[in-house]
Amino acid sequence: MARYIFITGGVVSSLGKGLASAALGALLQARGYTVRLRKLDPYLNVDPGTMSPFEHGEVFVTDDGAETDLDLGHYERFTGVAARRTDSVSAGRIYSNVLERERRGGYLGQTIQVIPHVTNEIKDWIAIGDDEVDFMLCEIGGTVGDIEGLPFFEAIRQFAQERRRGQCIFMHLTLLPYLAAAGELKTKPTQHSVKELRSIGIAPDVLVCRTEHEIPAKEIAKLALFCNVRAESVIPARDLKSIYEAPLAYHAAGLDQAVLDAFGISPAPRPNLTRWQQVVDAVHNPDGEVRIAIVGKYTQLGDAYKSIAEALTHGGIANRVKVHAEWLDSEVFETEDPAPRLENFDGIIVPGGFGERGTEGKIRAAQFARERNVPYLGICLGMQMAVIEAARNLAGLKDAGSEEFDLEAGKKRFEPVVYHLKEWLEGNRTIQREVDADKGGTMRLGAYDATLAEGSKVAKIYGTTTISERHRHRYEVAIKYRDKLEAAGLCFSGMSPDGKLPEIVEMKDHPWFVGVQFHPELKSKPFAPHPLFADFVRAAVEQGRLV
Ligand code: GLN
Repeated sequence: MARYIFITGGVVSSLGKGLASAALGALLQARGYTVRLRKLDPYLNVDPGTMSPFEHGEVFVTDDGAETDLDLGHYERFTGVAARRTDSVSAGRIYSNVLERERRGGYLGQTIQVIPHVTNEIKDWIAIGDDEVDFMLCEIGGTVGDIEGLPFFEAIRQFAQERRRGQCIFMHLTLLPYLAAAGELKTKPTQHSVKELRSIGIAPDVLVCRTEHEIPAKEIAKLALFCNVRAESVIPARDLKSIYEAPLAYHAAGLDQAVLDAFGISPAPRPNLTRWQQVVDAVHNPDGEVRIAIVGKYTQLGDAYKSIAEALTHGGIANRVKVHAEWLDSEVFETEDPAPRLENFDGIIVPGGFGERGTEGKIRAAQFARERNVPYLGICLGMQMAVIEAARNLAGLKDAGSEEFDLEAGKKRFEPVVYHLKEWLEGNRTIQREVDADKGGTMRLGAYDATLAEGSKVAKIYGTTTISERHRHRYEVAIKYRDKLEAAGLCFSGMSPDGKLPEIVEMKDHPWFVGVQFHPELKSKPFAPHPLFADFVRAAVEQGRLV
């Protein structure tokens, strides 16, 4: 059975709990262990699929088609372990399972209560697959003291109590604020946070303290004394230039050692950190820089396109260059000529998105990339926009557009070159979807295979003709326009295995113009950059030499 590490946070949110968990996972792997990471979120949405990226950041999609928290992206990027549907759960999902069972009569007339029914549901979830790995890392979202987090804290307390002694440990992340006037790091908020945790029956074994300054030995001793943690288990976490330094930095600070000590694993296997040393070396010592424009809608919040930003960094690692990505609001290009702004970039990405707002600007960005021979990567909506651009400006379909926008506006204006997908194959099963289906979890989600055309650019890039990539979309390029579009120079170089759904288009006679219906960014890792991002950045480097 797995050993469990429960990771909680205190004092303030956004401390980088997800990153600390992911880095710890990577360090345990470096010592030869197998790991799985999980996120338990106290919010009441059933999943983040319907939450605005403005509010919650990107929705991360797993192979098995779950729409999850973006922290699962961190987990995958650091450990390479593909997340599953069962690695992300919210209070909404837990309550909805409990209530459904209650309606079905599954509790035989009992009074349903937070303890034990909700906490049991949480514990069952935590235990899924616990015979598969050496360590299960479970991060609890939010901060200790949040009302909605209480059932989760109670559940992990019970879980540790019920398991064999030494099978579960608790790691708590806090902030040590620096008071400039006093010239001191303050430990009091951390003391209070641990006190709060202990009042609900959880005593941390490891304390990770985010700080902008070195923690003096005196303060470490104080934290150890007041928080009832060993001094060696108080781990300082300084700010980092790149998140990919986190495994090495946490190792140097003693995190993995403290965790293994808490489990009583001695002597601990020695870590092999070569993979991370290579990644950090490439990030710190680039031979030049490329500039990439990301033309989208959710530009105010970097987290909305987290995986794209990371995949670009990985593409930079593959080419040993620094990728400077800039987020441009596509709406601006609806009133302004995009050329003066886009001329400053070596490559253009139009990312995924929903809704009509800003799409005409995205279409103009795709047109600029096509006409000026600038490398272009269109992802999901970004592919659809490139196809509409080609349909209008190359194939003479003046009214080409997406049914998504007509349905949203409630009036028919466009020729549906991109249409609402009503039927597709998942393995041998046909999935059907009505236009007015529920919004939650009803898209074409998760991993689907695609077949690449022999001799195409993408087949060369991938080095194979069968790929599997993750999807999250409701609309699709209509195959009936294939002949017209191919005659105009846009090749359908990747198709679903049954030949019905266009998965990839590429522009003939263009140095690098690729649109993909899936999200390659979700599978990229710093130690295994995604081939499309690696090659896109390579093309951008070449483009940079031209200008
Ligand atoms: N809105 C488009 C669709 O549903 C694109 C989705 C996306 O970019 N993820 O097909």
